[in-house]
Amino acid sequence: MKIVVIGCTHAGTAAILNAAKLYPHAQITVYERNDTISFLSCGIALYVGGVIKDPKGLFYSSPQQLQELGVNTKMSHDVLSVNIDEKKLTVRNLEKNEDFEDTFDKLIITSGSWPIMPKIEGIDLENILLSKNFYHSNTIIEKAKDANNIVVVGAGYIGIELVEAFQMNGKNVTLIDTQDRILSKYLDKEFTDKAEEDLKEHSVKLALGETVTRFEGKEGNVSKVITDKGEYEADLVILCIGFKPNTYLFKDQIEMLSNGAIIVDEYMRTSKEDVYAAGDCCAVIYNPTGEHSYIPLATNAVRMGTLAARNLDKLTTKYMGTQGTSGIKIYEHNIASTGLTQSYGKELGLEVDTVTVQDNYRPEFMPTYDLAVLKVVYEKETRRILGAQIISKADLTQCINTLSVCIQNKMTIDELAFIDFFFQPHFNKPWNLLNLAGLNAK
Ligand SMILES: Cc1cc2nc3c(=O)[nH]c(=O)nc-3n(C[C@H](O)[C@H](O)[C@H](O)COP(=O)(O)OP(=O)(O)OC[C@H]3O[C@@H](n4cnc5c(N)ncnc54)[C@H](O)[C@@H]3O)c2cc1C
Repeated sequence: MKIVVIGCTHAGTAAILNAAKLYPHAQITVYERNDTISFLSCGIALYVGGVIKDPKGLFYSSPQQLQELGVNTKMSHDVLSVNIDEKKLTVRNLEKNEDFEDTFDKLIITSGSWPIMPKIEGIDLENILLSKNFYHSNTIIEKAKDANNIVVVGAGYIGIELVEAFQMNGKNVTLIDTQDRILSKYLDKEFTDKAEEDLKEHSVKLALGETVTRFEGKEGNVSKVITDKGEYEADLVILCIGFKPNTYLFKDQIEMLSNGAIIVDEYMRTSKEDVYAAGDCCAVIYNPTGEHSYIPLATNAVRMGTLAARNLDKLTTKYMGTQGTSGIKIYEHNIASTGLTQSYGKELGLEVDTVTVQDNYRPEFMPTYDLAVLKVVYEKETRRILGAQIISKADLTQCINTLSVCIQNKMTIDELAFIDFFFQPHFNKPWNLLNLAGLNAK
C-alpha cells in the first residue's frame, strides 16, 4: 500500500505516526512545504511573551523521528496539484526547484488552514503580520522589539493571547474587532464583560464594534490602522481574524462546505474512495447541532489524523464529533467553554434556557477561596445540555471537559444535578458546581 500524506503539522503528524505503526509494510511518503513539523501554534503567544524561552519545546516530533520510522519524509516539498481520479500528484522540491510526479493508493489530506487576509487598502505594507506558524512567531518577536504601538485585529483566542503578551512586554496595545464583544463566539456577555474589564485594567485599548477599512503607511511601513469609527497609531499590526481551509488543490474534486472545508464521514473518508482528510482542512460534526461546522482546533486535528490512519485499511473507529471545547487564561482569570453559548443558540433559532451558578469554589473556612461563575445552556424542550462556560481565578476549567462529555452523551440538565462527584475541602464543596447547575435549572 502506497500512502501519501500532504502536510505535516498536527493532523499530518498524528496520521503518519499511527500509519507507520499500523501498516509496517506500507510505503508512506509525506510532503511538507515547511522545513519543520508538528509546530504547536498554541505556544506562539507564550513564546512572543517570553514565557517560553527555547522554541525547541514547541515541537513534539521531527523529520528525523519520521525517517527513523521508515517514512519517506519530504520536507520543503510543496504539492502543486493533485489529480484524485488518476491518483497522481505533482510536487515541487523547493530546495532544488525541481518538479516531479508521484502516485498513491491512499491519500491523506492534512493541508490545514491559513489565516484570512482581508483585501483592504494598505494590506501589503510592511509590519502587517500573520500568526500561524513558527516563521510567523519569529518574525513577530523580531518586529515587536522596535514596536511601541501594536494593533491586533481580531478578538478571538489568538488575538487576545497576543494582546496580553504584548502588554506584558510593555507595549501600547489596541485590540480591534468588528464584533462589539471579545471572544463572542465562545462566551456570553456576562463572561466577556469580565474579560474585557481585565484587559482595560491593564491599559489595553479596546476598539470593539469597529471594522478596519484601510491601513496607512510611512516609507512602506504601516503607521496607522483606520476603522469605520476611528484611527489608531501602529508600528506593528497582527491580523488574527480567522482561518480558511487550505484546500484549493482539491476544489471541484471532493465535496466541501462553501468555505472550502472538506466534508469527511465519521471514518475521515472524503467523497472520493481512498482519499481521507483530517484537521483544519476539514469540517467536523458539531454535536450541539449535529451539523458539519468549521472548527479548526489542534484537538480535532490530532484526533482526526489518528482516525484517518486507523481507518485507512479497514473501518475500525468512528469520530464522535466535537463540542469545540476550548480554554484561555486572561491575566488572572481561567476561562473555558464548550458547545453553544446562549447567544449563538438564539442566533441559530434554538429555544434554549440557561442556568448560572455563582459560588465560591471551596468552603469559606479555607484560607483562600475564589468566586466561580458557571453557566450551562440547555435546550428548553428536551433539556439536553448544549453548552457551558466557566470563569474563575481558580483553575476550574476541567469542569468544562466534564460538561463536554455530558453534551457528547446527550445528557440532560436534570441528570447533571445528581451525578456523583467527589468532595474534599481543598478542591470544592459538597455540592459540586455542576450539580448545583442541575439543581438550580428551571
Ligand atoms: C496562534 C494559534 C494558537 C492556537 N492555539 C490553539 C489552542 O490553544 N488549542 C487548540 O486546540 N488549537 C489551537 N490552535 C489551532 C491549531 O493550531 C490548529 O487547529 C492546528 O494547527 C491544525 O493542524 P493541522 O495539521 O490540521 O493544520 P495546519 O497546522 O494548518 O498544518 C497544515 C500543514 O500542511 C502544510 N501544507 C499545506 N499545503 C501544503 C502543500 N500543498 N504541500 C505541502 N505542504 C502543505 C502546511 O505547511 C502545514 O504545515 C491555534 C492556532 C494558532 C494559529
